[in-house]
Order: sequence, then structure tokens, then C-alpha cells
Amino acid sequence: MTTRSASLPEPGMPIAAVATPVGVGALAILRISGRGVFGIAGRIFKKKQNPAFRFAEAKGYTAHFGSVHDSEGLIDEVVALVLRAPNSFTMEDMVEFTCHGGPVVVQHILKVLLDEGCRLAEPGEFTRRAFLNGRIDLLQAEAIGEMIHARSESAFRTAVTQMQGTLSLRLEAMREQLLRSCALLELELDFSEEDVEFQNRRELQQQLGVLQEELRRLVDSYQHGRIMKEGVATVIAGRPNAGKSTLLNTLLGLERSIVSHMPGTTRDYIEECFLYNKTMFRLTDTAGLREAEEAVEHEGVKRSYRKIAEADLIVYILDLTLDDYADEVARILEFKSEYRNARMIVAANKIDLASESPERIQELREATGCDVCGISAAKGEGLETLKELMSTMVVGLDKLHEASVLVTSLRHYEALRNASDALENARMLINSNSETELIAFELRSALNYVGEITGKVINEEILNMIFDQFCIGK
Ligand code: GDP
Repeated sequence: MTTRSASLPEPGMPIAAVATPVGVGALAILRISGRGVFGIAGRIFKKKQNPAFRFAEAKGYTAHFGSVHDSEGLIDEVVALVLRAPNSFTMEDMVEFTCHGGPVVVQHILKVLLDEGCRLAEPGEFTRRAFLNGRIDLLQAEAIGEMIHARSESAFRTAVTQMQGTLSLRLEAMREQLLRSCALLELELDFSEEDVEFQNRRELQQQLGVLQEELRRLVDSYQHGRIMKEGVATVIAGRPNAGKSTLLNTLLGLERSIVSHMPGTTRDYIEECFLYNKTMFRLTDTAGLREAEEAVEHEGVKRSYRKIAEADLIVYILDLTLDDYADEVARILEFKSEYRNARMIVAANKIDLASESPERIQELREATGCDVCGISAAKGEGLETLKELMSTMVVGLDKLHEASVLVTSLRHYEALRNASDALENARMLINSNSETELIAFELRSALNYVGEITGKVINEEILNMIFDQFCIGK
């Protein structure tokens, strides 16, 4: 683990990559960045009307029309955009070539760039350089990746907010405060023989309390943040033959899981997403919940319970044609008390077969204390009401999100929790009048955890994990 220096590192090896998706398109972009890229670009590019053109002398943010050649002649006509250090994405000298979007053309130009001295960029290497050179912090780099991969409006919004750096600013303020206290404590250690107290313990105790409270709020925002980013983890649970697979298929409009009359045919779980009112729901259809004799089934049942434990929302589907619901009501109440973190909705299925549906639904509402709606998964009835109920799960989250900063990544969540634990330890040590050295150690540890989030403290393993998820060219 190293701490990042404030000065800019030397420009890196020249790297090249295709920045646009593979395939046929109107245009494609290749980008190069690093030491000597203007020389490399100059060797393959001829500017129309100005044979004496040199990239090294061109102004930043200027575009030049010309052609790219290899030893055998013309490859394509292109526009070359010049970006000069430090005013580029990577803060190094860069050139972006916009060419015609055919895969063969693009590969040809890439090959010439590699022949002329570029190395093929690793996934996320441009963004990694932007981070290492101090243009963006780690949170913002991750937000760029998340924005590219966003599959819903809310995921996109959370990524944009993170890219703007609100969370970064909060964490930075926190880090500065911790750093100050740490410095004072360490000064005391230097003067340990003289028994001085530069950092008043009562004040420190109070400051750490405030910081810990802020950390706790961020940690607590994770469930909402995750829902905004990844969608609502929704489990469709219920006895075999209640209609789970049918409901899943109707909601998705797809024939994905096999619907069958035999109890227990959904052996494993499958996960699919659908969008309703800008919110993504990640639906899991679990294997039938029953005491199974068969080994495969048994494993499936265990997995089902694990999935339910991770859910934000449980849609419990119940067969209205049953004569007696006592067992089902007991099971629903059991789920409610066991999975307190999840919201629960009861979907009373097969209203097309059950006479007296409205009365039964009302009874179920009273017996379970849950939202209950009558549906026919097979006929598609009542599904709008069900989806409305499901989306009340996220009502207010948008507003909450605008008003405060949300933590959306597991990595950040864990680091914040560790930082909060370290502060808790520090406060206990202060309370018991422990040695300065021990308190300083806990504060340093909290500092490191907070620093790891924004990348002030660099951990190679974390960097690799983050940037490996990017595509090449980003
Ligand atoms: P699962 O075991 O809970 O996944 O249940 P399935 O989705 O496989 O459904 C069991 C049986 O009930 C199948 O024969 C479905 O066609 C039938 N079924 C499901 N929903 C309805 C419904 O709303 N009305 C009627 N009449 N039959 C349904």
C-alpha cells in the first residue's frame, strides 16, 4: 500500500485501443495516449493540403482531416483530434482518430499504430491513467464505469452524481479532520517524555462521535444506493404449483423457466430483470419450497432460502384455489419475521379459478398484515396492480437520493464500515484512558479505509479489481 504523491508521474508507454464497439458502424474511434504519441501519429498520418503538418506543433483540441497509411498505401481517410497534456482525459498527450466504422478498417489502423510503437491498452487503462495522474479520483473512475454499464435511469443518475464528486468531497473533509487529529496525537508521541496533551481527549471524543455518525449514515444508505444502482432484488416465493414460474414469465413476457404441473420442476433459481416506472426489478424464481426427498431438489431449496435472505422484496405467491390457507398464512408470518429487511407482498394467484376471490383476499390481508393483491398469472389479470405495489418499494428513494449522498458499491460500503469500526475502537480507547499510541493506531486505520475509497491510499489489488471490469479503450 502506498500513498499517492501530488506531483504528476512521467507520461506512460504509448498505448492504443479502439474506443468504440466492435462491429459495423458509421464511424469508429481509435485513441492513443502516452509518451511520443505525436511522433507515432505523424508517421502514419498525412494531412490533406498541408504535407508539412506536425502533431507536435498543433494546438490542443484541434481536428485535422487527412489519411492514414501503412507501407502498402492508403488505409482510410480520417479526422485526427489532438489533445495536449495535461488537457486530455489521461492528462498525457493523446490523439483520437475517427475513421470509417468497419471492423477491417479499424483493425488495420490499430495494427499500424502497434507497428509504430504503441502497446495495446489493457482494459480501463486510459481511465486508470486519468486516476493515477490525478485528473479524477477512484470514486469518479468507478462512476464512469457504472455510467457506461447503467441499465436503468436510476442507475445512470446515481453514477452521474458520483461522477460529480459529492461523496468524494464528504470523504475528503472527513479525511482531513482525521489527519489533523492523527498529527496532533503523533506529536504527543514525539514529546512523550514531557506528558503533554496536544489533542484534548474530550474534544476528540466528541469529534469522532460526529464522524462516526456520518459514517453510519453513509453505511445505512447502502441498501437504497444498491437498489438505485442494481435494481430491487425481488424473490418470487411460494409453494410448488402456486404459479411462480407463470408469474415470472408473464412479468417478463418471456418463456424462460419451464412451467409444469409436476411439483418441484423449477430446480434452481433463475434471475431476470424488468423495468417498471424507471426502476429495475431483478426477479428470482426460487425452487419450490417444500420438504424434498430428492437430492437435487434439496440443494435447490437451500439455495432458495439463501436468495430470500438477500432479497429487498419478496412476492409471496399463494394459490387461491386451496381449501385451507392456514399453513400458508403461518408461512407468510414466519417469512415476515425472519426476513425483516425485505418488504413483503402477497400475490393471491388463480383468481380466474377461485370464486369469492375478493372475500378471500380481504381475509388474507387481515390475517397476514401484508399488502395482498389478487392476480391471475396465467391470464395476466391484476398484474398492473401488483407492479404498482412493487414500485411503491422505491417511492421516495429518488427524493432521498437528491437530498443526500448514497453509497452504491459494496467496496465503499465495506471500507466505510471498517472505518466506522476503527473509530468505535478509538472512542472506547479514549474512554478507558488508553495509551496515545493505541488511539493513533485506530485513527490511522480509519484514515486508510476512507482513503482507499477515493484512492488517496493506493492499493494495487483494489485498482486491478476496479479497472479489470472496464472494457479495452476506456
Ligand atoms: P410453480 O411451481 O409455483 O412455479 O407453478 P407454475 O407456474 O409451474 O404453475 C403451476 C400450474 O398452475 C401450471 O399448470 C400453471 O399453468 C397453472 N397456473 C399458474 N397460474 C395460473 C392462473 O393464474 N390461473 C390458472 N388457471 N392456472 C394457473
